[in-house]
Amino acid sequence: MGWDYAPAPEARNIVKIQPRYGLFIDGQFVEPKSGRYFQTLNPANEAVLAEVAYAEAEDIDRTVQSARRAYNEVWSKLPGKERAKYLFRIARIVQERSREFAVLESLDGGKPIRESRDVDIPLVSAHFFYYAGWADKLEYAFPGRTPRPLGVAGQIIPWNFPLLMLAWKVAPALACGNTVVIKPAETTPLTALLMCEVFQQAELPPGVVNIVTGDGQTGATLVQHPDLDKIAFTGSTEVGKKIQRAVAGTRKRLTLELGGKAANVIFEDADIDQAIEGIINGIYFNQGHVCCAGSRLLVQESIYPIVLRKLQRRIQLLRVGDPLDKNTDVGAINSLPQLRKIESLVQIGVQEGAELYQCDCPLPEKGYWYRPTILDKVSMAHTVAREEIFGPVLAVMTFRTPDEAVAIANNTRYGLSAGVWTSKGSRYLEFARRLQAGVVWCNTYNKFDPASPFGGYKESGFGREGGLHALSAYVAF
Ligand code: ADP
Repeated sequence: MGWDYAPAPEARNIVKIQPRYGLFIDGQFVEPKSGRYFQTLNPANEAVLAEVAYAEAEDIDRTVQSARRAYNEVWSKLPGKERAKYLFRIARIVQERSREFAVLESLDGGKPIRESRDVDIPLVSAHFFYYAGWADKLEYAFPGRTPRPLGVAGQIIPWNFPLLMLAWKVAPALACGNTVVIKPAETTPLTALLMCEVFQQAELPPGVVNIVTGDGQTGATLVQHPDLDKIAFTGSTEVGKKIQRAVAGTRKRLTLELGGKAANVIFEDADIDQAIEGIINGIYFNQGHVCCAGSRLLVQESIYPIVLRKLQRRIQLLRVGDPLDKNTDVGAINSLPQLRKIESLVQIGVQEGAELYQCDCPLPEKGYWYRPTILDKVSMAHTVAREEIFGPVLAVMTFRTPDEAVAIANNTRYGLSAGVWTSKGSRYLEFARRLQAGVVWCNTYNKFDPASPFGGYKESGFGREGGLHALSAYVAF
């Protein structure tokens, strides 16, 4: 290549990171009773960003008590239109501070600033605006019925969309009159902790949102707390199953949003260049750290050679590197264990007979990186066609007829999302109807809107987030 992009880094000093964060209980940061802290790193250079409190049973108990008090004394008594005011305020403050949140999200999680700035953070405020609008209209959301809040919700979220997952869970819960205790993932707690400043700025009554930080053990302790009315979890299917077992036989309601192994299906009548861009967006932007990532590409046999050639050429043009650079397409892998998992699954793929193509761009020396990768000649018997890789790795398969495409796409234990590329309206409508997937994107991929429900079939979980559907997960009648 004769030319390259000049570096275009986003200013990092817009966000002030504290050296140490406590737990956010009853509207304030407090030291953990455990006395323990852990570090959160910048995965792009392995530098320590901050120390974060590690919550144990005693801390969690205190946090749940704070949420219960706020529920009984304040939040459950407020009329919907008053709750709405707080949610509108939160939405507006996130908008005002969006640059700060975007930079922090990219620093702590490794995703490109273009994604955090243009996707994650705008969607966070959009969700608070959307659910603010419902807070005083719940009787219209559930006509003829009288919705009541559930009480206190324990919410556990993963590291791939740290603040967006918080918004998905907190906004509908609060709109319906519940209070929450939320646990961010151990590798990405910082934007949730910055959000506590927003709750304070918005003068949200203390205890309505509480944040506990820690690891899987902290999450497990939270799930077991007897005074919770609801558990909402987003994360791996493996942990989701453990939580389901822990909650069985209790009064706690449960929603689970788990893994995925989405098929992105391209028919011979598709606009191929448009589809290539959608496929690239569906798996490589965000490092494939998306549970609905289009990680299996199903190509109709007649166009397979041209699609593969174009994909191989296109991945060479992806820019991998500094997440804070506005020209970066693919950022850092979120953590070392995740990087090792991706490496080992790709190795298994090659051992089982897949052909490997990788972007040969230079990678930074420090930090956790993985090259955008295509695994070609994959069949459903291969591990990489079945297991969720959660990295920038696309498994390519072919099909001949629409029936065969549906059969392969549905041949998975998951069912979160899928994509279809075709110029025939009748074909994609028929295809969407036959697919067992919560979301089917047609001639686009990874598009989200707060009004649109999201969730899975089979081992991808149950319950829906987003839209009216998310409200029903937080009310009783
Ligand atoms: P991922 O594979 O996306 O890292 P995990 O399911 O391991 O997803 O983690 C998602 C969230 O669940 C994180 O906040 C993590 O700390 C938490 N977690 C992990 N193990 C448990 C558990 N046994 N019980 C409750 N929460 C857990």
